[in-house]
Amino acid sequence: MCVVTESVAPSLCSDVPTSRATMQRILHDNWRAFAAKFPQPNFANRAAFLLAHCKTAFLGGHVERCEHGHVEKVHYNSCRHRCCPGCSTAPRKAWLDKQRAKMLDTAAMQVVFTLPSELAKLWRMNKQAIADVLFNSSKDSLLTLLADPQFLGAQPGLLAALHTWSQTLSAHPYVHYIVTFGGLASDGTWKTPKRECLLPRQVLMCMFRGKFLDKVRKLVSSDKLDVPEGWTKTNCMSILNQLGRAPWNVKLLERYAHAEGVTLYLAKYLRGGPIGNSRIVSFSNGEVTFRYLDRKNPLHPQTKEMTLPVYKFLKRWSQHLPPTKMHTVRAYGLYANGNRKRLEHARSQIKQPVSPPSASRLDKSEKREEDTKEQKRCPICNGSILVEGLEFEEAVRPWNVYRARRKRRCERAPPTDQEQPIA
Ligand SMILES: [Zn+2]
Ligand SMILES: [Zn+2]
Repeated sequence: MCVVTESVAPSLCSDVPTSRATMQRILHDNWRAFAAKFPQPNFANRAAFLLAHCKTAFLGGHVERCEHGHVEKVHYNSCRHRCCPGCSTAPRKAWLDKQRAKMLDTAAMQVVFTLPSELAKLWRMNKQAIADVLFNSSKDSLLTLLADPQFLGAQPGLLAALHTWSQTLSAHPYVHYIVTFGGLASDGTWKTPKRECLLPRQVLMCMFRGKFLDKVRKLVSSDKLDVPEGWTKTNCMSILNQLGRAPWNVKLLERYAHAEGVTLYLAKYLRGGPIGNSRIVSFSNGEVTFRYLDRKNPLHPQTKEMTLPVYKFLKRWSQHLPPTKMHTVRAYGLYANGNRKRLEHARSQIKQPVSPPSASRLDKSEKREEDTKEQKRCPICNGSILVEGLEFEEAVRPWNVYRARRKRRCERAPPTDQEQPIA
């Protein structure tokens, strides 16, 4: 007897569900044509492929079957891409648990460093380099100023996340920091700021602007940045010089009694991509309608709808895909990975218990015991459930398709100058 339950994806030859407008449906139907018209980098094509085939037969899966063949469930694999709105819940929760375990039990402040809109084009072409500059210059400014006894004279814990989209999916890169309201001084004691505000905004803004522009100027003059079409090196330097005289958007937001709520907010940006499926209202006749929150009047934000041609929608969406291996969340100061001993010392100073061992450090046997306890049983004969990997045809395995394509490209590629025989 073979019973296929409701939680099972539609069928083994299943494809993307058609019942409602989702990011998966939009990508599945339009990405190929979009990428042919507007060529995209490899990481964007890979992301779109994964999202379009998340939890379908393309990504493989496993079958759960009772030893007497009573129950059969088919589970298709998630794509696990960080921008997938369809499989972001579990990794988001795992990240959140890890951060909660690490966080110091103190008040915290939010600090936001926004990239000037004049540099949005430069960011689109150099996402990794500009993100590095944004993170490094903002982190250096915070740590330098807070180490100054005039302000705090201690090392705080910093957790930073890069956000790049606005509610309407246009480019709006900024780094959002959670900063502990206090830090560990060089004598090993915990120090809190004397004033209500952590730092003077103007001082922080000037230092960040100076450090950022200095780093970008060096990159431009050493030709390490791709310059947008129509820009020259001189023209780029002139824009940077003008920005050096303008005020930048650096905000120190209100103080929170604990950083947990803000961490939850950061986690939303960490996984799931620029837009969740719940915000997509419809997708028909080549147009996508989605909801957004209009904050023109900050006291009365309004939910509105925007309709865009699908190519324009994908153009906006794809600009926020991070390059492979780019870290969009980083930890500095007491929260830095190499600072575990100092973090534990800080915990002891504020009378916080020692951090619990992370899941990865749990004893393997304990884990196995837990797994056995939770092992599912067959509802008919109470027999144990066996899990078998699903074998799909080689042709539908995306990695094989990629490998075959890459091989073909390599075979077709002309030999380089060095490989050419000398005439
Ligand atoms: Zn997914
Ligand atoms: Zn059974």
